[in-house]
Amino acid sequence: MELVNPATGESIGDVPLASVEEADAAIGRAAAAFEAWRAVAPADRGRLLRRFAARIEAHADELAELEVRNSGHPIGNARWEAGNAAAVVDYYSAAPERLCGRQIPVAGGVDVTFHEPLGVVGIIVPWNFPMPIASWGFAPALAAGNTVVLKPAELTPLTALRLGELALDAGLPEHVFTVLPGAGPVVGQRFVAHPAVRKVCFTGSTAVGKQIMAGCADQVKRVTLELGGKSANIVFADADVAAAAAAAPMSFCDNTGQDCCARTRILVQRSAYEPFLAALADALAAVRVGDPREPETQVGPLISAPHRDRVRSYVDDAEVLLRGTAPDGPGFWYPPTVLAGGAGTDRAWHEEIFGPVASVLPFDTEADAIRLANDTAYGLSGSIWTRDLGRALRVGREVRAGNLSVNSHASVRYATPFGGFGSSGLGRELGPDALAGFTETKNVFLADS
Ligand code: NDP
Repeated sequence: MELVNPATGESIGDVPLASVEEADAAIGRAAAAFEAWRAVAPADRGRLLRRFAARIEAHADELAELEVRNSGHPIGNARWEAGNAAAVVDYYSAAPERLCGRQIPVAGGVDVTFHEPLGVVGIIVPWNFPMPIASWGFAPALAAGNTVVLKPAELTPLTALRLGELALDAGLPEHVFTVLPGAGPVVGQRFVAHPAVRKVCFTGSTAVGKQIMAGCADQVKRVTLELGGKSANIVFADADVAAAAAAAPMSFCDNTGQDCCARTRILVQRSAYEPFLAALADALAAVRVGDPREPETQVGPLISAPHRDRVRSYVDDAEVLLRGTAPDGPGFWYPPTVLAGGAGTDRAWHEEIFGPVASVLPFDTEADAIRLANDTAYGLSGSIWTRDLGRALRVGREVRAGNLSVNSHASVRYATPFGGFGSSGLGRELGPDALAGFTETKNVFLADS
């Protein structure tokens, strides 16, 4: 697979893609490594993961630079992403020693539960956040005593390959964590079909997620799905409207909008609509789109030329209200863009665009805002801007989404659960309960006579 720098369109080398036979061999080695890895004492497993986290931290600049070249992420974002992967591994390094079962009172003996690892876990990673999304899967999976095979996206395998090397450097035994670049329908599909893989963690499009779920059903295989989004950013007139407008551009332009949590449907209470739009125009014009190697750059290119064509196709059909700037010339650039929103059949209003494009629509009442926010099959994230605490709570309880923020657009923290309602997915990643998704609960009753 030839890899391309999205900021320049130039080749940066190539990576061999694994065949079905190579995928099966790697899964077989991971299965063979499982018994020894699950038998590693909890404190030792924790220590190895802490060493892995420290290796990632020590190589954060190198990993960030790889991501800038391979994914076009601004260097500031890429450093955060490497730091996030290190922090996630560090957080779950404490888990092996805290993977406690329960003692449940019953008649005639003692009843205890154990959390047993599943075996081999297959992780399928998309191209939008190669390091964080990989670590959200592999860190809790390894901590729980599973072995992991991980398929990065074809377009962005470099940081995952480096993470695999750093795991070995840190002392993780061979074949406990294997990174396997390959095509989705080849390697990803083997994770679904191979009986030794006992769970698949998938992040990507809803269409492929549904196929993965259907495929996993055949073997009653565990599956976690983190899929698309079309999240609402609800701005009430009682909010700090200037702050809401200033924060809005990066809520859908961060990572060039290639973010499942992007707030791409902006709902503004009618009495605040005009002032909000005026302030949004200023904020959008100030977004710095450009060379991802420059520390002050906020937004880089899109991932590929075909993806840019796809993003553009939504804008071609819509009424453009505001448009920022982007470099000309080589690279897959697209300017931040705000469209007039509409319900009905408006594609840009209903479908995930995955580019720096949002739609804005006025609303009248709190009930209207909730109805519009919920007018989607997705349910991943969203934001509510208001100074009224009661309203924040009411609306927060009514919007159907897994991750909401009030007066903020922050969605993801490694210590809190992350995942979606409806077509946005199944199961939760991150947070204190993530290991439950990588273990089976076993109940053992010991008779006292
Ligand atoms: P895909 O869902 O096709 O790809 C995501 C991952 O799944 C990649 O690793 C891909 O491999 C793999 N994959 C693809 N087909 C299969 C298969 N049949 N079996 C197993 N694994 C498979 O997303 P795209 O990259 O095509 O992006 C399309 C759209 O999906 C985006 O525009 C966006 O709307 C959404 N998306 C959402 C993401 C999110 O974070 N929720 C992330 C990425 C995309 P390969 O790289 O080889 O194709």
